[in-house]
Amino acid sequence: MATICVVGTGYVGLVTGTCLADLGNRVTCVDIIAEKIERLKKGELPIYEPELEEIVGRNVSAGRLHFTTSYREGLNNADFVFIAVNTPSTDSLGGADMSYVENAARSIAQELDHYTIIINKSTMPVGSGDVVKRIIRANLSRPDVRFAVVSNPEFLREGSAIQDFRSPDRVVLGSSDKEAARKVATLYLPLRAPIVITDLYTAEMIKYASNAFLATKISFINEIAQICERLDADVKEVAAGMGYDKRIGRAFLDAGLGYGGSCFPKDVRALAYMAEEAGLHPQLLHAVMEINDDQRRLVSDRLTTILGPLRGCTIGVLGLAFKPDTDDMREAPSIDIIRQATDQGAYARVYDPVAMTTGCEALKREGVRMEQVQFCQGAYEVAESADALVLVTEWHEFKSLNMREIRTIMRRPVVIDGRNFFEAGELNRLGFIYCGIGRGASLPPAMLPDRDWASSQSLVDA
Ligand code: NAD
Repeated sequence: MATICVVGTGYVGLVTGTCLADLGNRVTCVDIIAEKIERLKKGELPIYEPELEEIVGRNVSAGRLHFTTSYREGLNNADFVFIAVNTPSTDSLGGADMSYVENAARSIAQELDHYTIIINKSTMPVGSGDVVKRIIRANLSRPDVRFAVVSNPEFLREGSAIQDFRSPDRVVLGSSDKEAARKVATLYLPLRAPIVITDLYTAEMIKYASNAFLATKISFINEIAQICERLDADVKEVAAGMGYDKRIGRAFLDAGLGYGGSCFPKDVRALAYMAEEAGLHPQLLHAVMEINDDQRRLVSDRLTTILGPLRGCTIGVLGLAFKPDTDDMREAPSIDIIRQATDQGAYARVYDPVAMTTGCEALKREGVRMEQVQFCQGAYEVAESADALVLVTEWHEFKSLNMREIRTIMRRPVVIDGRNFFEAGELNRLGFIYCGIGRGASLPPAMLPDRDWASSQSLVDA
């Protein structure tokens, strides 16, 4: 069994470190945020991820998993060091901010005193492996120490990260040092997954190309959804019908509010940036981003079409996290939706099963008018006297809502279903004005061209 140091104890680092410990390795997770490490030492998790708390507890008790702010402690006897720090977008053009990786590489270099394999798990622009190598070499406190750098991009999804670690579709390892890549492969052998060993740049590119492809599928189906609305087709059934084709597949064909989260938006931007820096014009990537931006405006447009001016209206928001089973708010559509509504003078009543704290922090950070936002205890409180209910995150618990009761407590019976989560027919039968994404036939007349809107107008007048 190996001795492993994981640098960066966020969604990726904590899951990776914990799961590697669970495979029997001795793992030390290092982070620069002392408060995070203190909480972890007390058994408190800084993030929400299903199953994670129990596995952390089990491995800490077994003495296989440790937390520290000290690189020296983390690197002591380590065979492998994973770099799993954040690589957010730079503010300006969308390139990746490598400063966290660079700082981590410098700190590692200062403590290296024996041969170690450095593994880049963070998503880094193509060529970063060489940058990490150079930084480490330039900052070694013992210049005679040897090391290797291997790229091992991460593909886990928040919300199912443990399962994704345990049953990956593939493990990608890239290095100019094939022996080092093979040593890293031994860590993953118990998972019995296909292992792709390639060069450094190709491994880095596989990560960006994979995320860009998945984002493209989402923007593709969202464009199809727009067309479906105009032509009275139902995108849900279109996606199901397409998905039977093995060449296409059903995954990532859910029309909705567009992609968000900590990866797709920044990784598509970074890939486009890399392409432009290389003198190319990545037209498809730009279209993918443009369609995604348009989806963010959809809810606000629909609300004003149905309710008229939003000033003084109360908009109930179900779900804040960028997707279910996580508390991650990075680039969550809820932020744009709440901002657009409150900027127009509406009040937002919001609820999320786990992302209330991170949601509040994110809304504040993004400059949303907090005096117009009320955090509620549950979905029924959100619906109370609301002029419209917007389903933003498809948390499973919202499936069992008693929509008949919700209908009676709302001021106006309007549901904007940003994830095509509810049964359109049932909500229409209950007297709701239901508005999904790309579901032409179920849309209220106001949303359709050349229809008489007057009949349904009376439904929403207060
Ligand atoms: P995160 O923000 O949740 O965690 C990063 C952690 O690194 C933080 O705890 C931060 O304090 C710590 N850190 C920053 N600089 C440090 C330093 N110099 N030394 C020690 N710790 C430091 O980020 P994340 O979501 O875990 O993502 C990490 C990387 O993995 C990113 O490159 C991301 O693109 C990639 N990735 C993320 C996911 C995902 O679902 N979150 C999936 C695949 C890949």
